[in-house]
Amino acid sequence: MALHWQILLAVLLGAAAGLATGPDGLLLGVPLVGAFDFVGTLFLNALKMLIVPLVMSSLIVGVGNVGGAAGLGRLGLKTVAYYLATSLIAILIGLAWVNVAKPGIMDGRPAGEVLGLEADTAEVADSVRDKGTGDLVAVFLRMVPPNIVQAAANGQMLGLIFFSLLFGYFTAQIRDEAGRVLHRFWDGVYRVMMRMTELIMRLAPVGVFGLVAKTLAHAGLAALLPLAGFFFTVLGALALHLFVALPLLLRVIGGVSPLRHFKAMLPALLTAFSTASSSATLPVTLESVEKRAGVSNRTAGFVLPLGATINMDGTALYECVAALFIAQAYGLELSFAQQFTVVITALLTSIGVAGIPSASLVAITIILAAIGLPAEGVGLILAVDRLLDMSRTAVNVFSDSCGAVIIARSEGERQVLAEDPEERMRRLASA
Ligand code: ASP
Repeated sequence: MALHWQILLAVLLGAAAGLATGPDGLLLGVPLVGAFDFVGTLFLNALKMLIVPLVMSSLIVGVGNVGGAAGLGRLGLKTVAYYLATSLIAILIGLAWVNVAKPGIMDGRPAGEVLGLEADTAEVADSVRDKGTGDLVAVFLRMVPPNIVQAAANGQMLGLIFFSLLFGYFTAQIRDEAGRVLHRFWDGVYRVMMRMTELIMRLAPVGVFGLVAKTLAHAGLAALLPLAGFFFTVLGALALHLFVALPLLLRVIGGVSPLRHFKAMLPALLTAFSTASSSATLPVTLESVEKRAGVSNRTAGFVLPLGATINMDGTALYECVAALFIAQAYGLELSFAQQFTVVITALLTSIGVAGIPSASLVAITIILAAIGLPAEGVGLILAVDRLLDMSRTAVNVFSDSCGAVIIARSEGERQVLAEDPEERMRRLASA
């Protein structure tokens, strides 16, 4: 059975096992959740172990291969333009959808009353008024890390990316033996990381099973019920972006088959779904985009590590829907200017937040502060956050991969998705 079907099966079996055992299920006296957690965490650790060397090597090699400032500028501009445009499309889909569905109004009343939310909006808002902008600035300050080792140790990807971009650029500028040796060294690191990814992915079915089972054992479906309206509003909007907006871009701008791209990306999508972390999924995303979709290392090595941190369509959409839902739940009509603030803040924070589980929650408190709502409002959505996190992370990763494909095609890469991903893998394996 192909790996992606094994992983899909693992997601389904994991969900069933988690729901069946619940948080206290035992097998021969051993708590099952502990076992799920063990295999899941092992897999997650193995993926995370690759991130720092992978981000550094793929960017250094990628930037080196682009060839000079002009090429880099062009690729950088395309990448940033794609990322901003798709995040904005996602936010607008969310904005329209939440205004129509109004999940924060239940039986004609603000859901806050129904869900038992008690808070003096004006008073709490005052206390967090200045917090929003300060936090946002801090996010961007981290882009230039004072200590690169510390940034790597704390998983501050933006800092690592900035350093690696510069390092890669100047490595290419050194035109004697030293520059060539450095480039080849990082190229070697990159290839070794990809091989390690392949090895770790063989364990993916077991790891994914553990992660999904553990999550669902804790989440249970009963907690979802009061928030079903919000839950399905988010899922609907995410689905629209994933299955309509992005495939349209693939077809119209990229000129490739969206279906084929979905097939190529299945391992990455399922890994993103079960880990809820774009960063942890990055090794798999790189592998799927290069090996299965056929994008060159030059493009993927540059576009994807950037995307894993700064391009989060699902997150941006979610932040917008969540902030508007909370406003509705408090019984607040947001003016056009306030909705505009939400859109801009969602766009900026989705660039700044890390690709780790629940990162959106911090961003949502920043948005709430920006429109004068209490940060406690986030408490309303906690019960459903994890399941939605899994879904939005899959959308985040898929958008990154569409960016890589579209940009590769615009750079004249004709081989991208030119053949079926499975056949391509078989051909590469036998070559
Ligand atoms: N978990 C998301 C990611 O890694 C970020 C978020 O929306 O919380 O892409």
